[in-house]
Formats: sequence, structure tokens, C-alpha cells
Amino acid sequence: MKRINRMNRKMIRKIALAVGVSLAFSGCGGIGNSANPNSGVSGEVYAMDTYMTYTLYGDRAQEAADEVLKEIERLDALLSTEQAQSEIYILNQNKGGVLSEDTAFLWDYSRRISDETQGAFAVGIYPVMKLWGFGEEKQQVPDEEALKEVLPFVDLAKAEWTEQSKLLTLPEGAAVDFGGIAKGYTGYRLRELLKQFGIEHALINLGGNVQLIGSKPDGTSYRIGIKDPMGGASPVGVLSVKDVAVISSGGYERYFEEGGIRYHHIIDPATGYPAESGLASVTIVAEDGTLADAYSTALYVMGLDKACSFWRERPETFQAVFVTEEGKILITKGLEGVFTSPSKYETIK
Ligand code: ADP
Ligand code: MG
Repeated sequence: MKRINRMNRKMIRKIALAVGVSLAFSGCGGIGNSANPNSGVSGEVYAMDTYMTYTLYGDRAQEAADEVLKEIERLDALLSTEQAQSEIYILNQNKGGVLSEDTAFLWDYSRRISDETQGAFAVGIYPVMKLWGFGEEKQQVPDEEALKEVLPFVDLAKAEWTEQSKLLTLPEGAAVDFGGIAKGYTGYRLRELLKQFGIEHALINLGGNVQLIGSKPDGTSYRIGIKDPMGGASPVGVLSVKDVAVISSGGYERYFEEGGIRYHHIIDPATGYPAESGLASVTIVAEDGTLADAYSTALYVMGLDKACSFWRERPETFQAVFVTEEGKILITKGLEGVFTSPSKYETIK
């Protein structure tokens, strides 16, 4: 019951939130952990400000499910920017500290992605998020002057990092936020954990961030629907995939309205305002969930043209589905034969 209780007021507040990908014919369901020899062991939990579900198949699935919950809760308690005892909260308060294994990995990883994406992915975005009130009860359009003041801290150029001692020192005014990468990383960690339990088939949905292990138990691919970012009931397309992460970012996921204008939670680090790149959503398909999550956020900020060039420089590393604000759908070449859609779509080569 503890797990259900965790789905408290936040759950009620957030249950209406759209998630990036929906599960088409996944056979996923159930409250808490429930076992059924044919449908595997399923469970759900509210963590990282979102609703998470999982279905595991294998002899040790029940045992593994308990560990999945523990790992999700451990990472949530570590990475949350809002929970007063989290490592990140304390780090931001103290403007530095010695990082644990997970956060040191994420710090290194995020910095590399920031370089690669020329700052589109910015782990130092927290002071801006805070002004907008994302992650808190109330959101508002910040004062322009206040935004201008915090913007210089976002690139973390002045942060000091000692690899050997894992000591990070942040300049006054700077603060980190792993929100753009945490769920992908969690999926990656769960994948590693489940391997230790001999789980060869699993579907984990971390609030629309999907991590697959292997195929469905019958050997066929999972069918992962890509949510219509315009709010339509049916998915814009379906990916038939195995053993990958499928992660979406879009302005439709979390937003508020003020003066008739919609403001969403993915920020262009160059301006401090919600990214207006002409994209409605970006879905990344990659083996590594951490990478998929970081890239989905970054490519959403970049916009279609830059995102296409970025993909062409590393066409083997990941694949993507883009939906533009005009409703145009584009897929990268590696998804030919994997993506199906009732609508017209273009292939990027
Ligand atoms: P979601 O968390 O809804 O799945 P994302 O993976 O795109 O979507 O992450 C959005 C979150 O990432 C924001 O809530 C914020 O914590 C953080 N964020 C916002 N803008 C950026 C950015 N430009 N770079 C890195 N992280 C960002
Ligand atoms: Mg992301």
C-alpha cells in the first residue's frame, strides 16, 4: 500500500499530464506489484514527479521487481532538486560537494553532451527553472531582469570539477538540474540491474520514457506509440522495437498558461525562455537511455535543421522521430521499416 500512497496529491495533480510515448499492446498494467505467469510481474510507482510502470518476465521477476522499486526510489531521493535531503539539493545549497558515483557519472556525461550540443543541453539550467517555478506548486513568467541575472551561470563555465576526488565547486548563483537526463539514466540503471536477475524481457515506462529489455517474451518486437504532441487521441506513429530506449521530449509534457500564452518546461539556455524551435516533439531511439534522454531535450531545443545535421554527424548512435509544430512527421533513415504511421512522413537521410 505504501506505493499507492506515494501516488498522492502530486499524482492527482499530474495524472492529467500527457506522457511522451504510450504503450501500444504492451500488456502492461496493475497496481503495486502483481504477478501473473502469462503477463509477467507488473508494478507501478509515482517517482521523479511522474507515473512509472514496469512489466518484467523471468523466473526471478518478482524478486527483481522489488529491486526495481528500490532503485527508482534511491535515484529519485538522490537526484531530486526539490527533496531537501537529496544529494543534488544539498549540492545546490552548498554550492558544491563530493559527488557520489551516480551524480559524478551524470555530471561528466552531461558536460560532454553540453559540449556536443553546443550548450543546447544545459545541466546548469536550474536557476532558470526556479524562476519559472517548474517543479514547484506555482509557475509564473519571470521578471526579465531576474532572468538576465541568472543566465550567465547556466553554462557552468566557472564550475570547478576534480575528477580524482569527485569534488565539484559551483560558483555563487549556479545550480544543477539533472531533470533532462534523470529518467533516461534510471532506465539505463534498471536495465543493468535486471540483467543481474537474468531478466531477458522487460518493458519499463518511466513517465513516457520507455526502456526495453529484449523483445516481448514471444520473441516479437514491442510496439511503442509516439504520442500526438498536438493532443490527438491516437499516436502519430508506432515504433516496433526491441532492447532500446525510446524517449520523447516536447513542450506539451509540462506547461502552464499566462495571459493566453503557453509556457513549457524545456528551456533554451541561450534565452532563458521555453524553446521555440518549431518542433512539437522529438523522440530518440537509442541503446543507451541516458543518451536518448539528453539528446531528446537537446534536439528539441536545437530545432529541426540543427537536429538533422547533428544526427548526420552520428547516424549510428541514435535514431529520431520529429514532429513539427505544423504537424509534419520526419524520421531518420534507421527507422525505416521500424516506424509505421497512418499519416504521411518523410525520411531524413
Ligand atoms: P521530461 O522530463 O518531461 O521527460 P525532458 O527530458 O526534455 O522531459 O526534460 C525536461 C527537464 O529537463 C526540465 O524539467 C528541466 O528539469 C530540464 N531542462 C530544461 N531545459 C533544459 C536544457 N536546455 N538542458 C538540460 N536540461 C533542461
Ligand atoms: Mg530529456
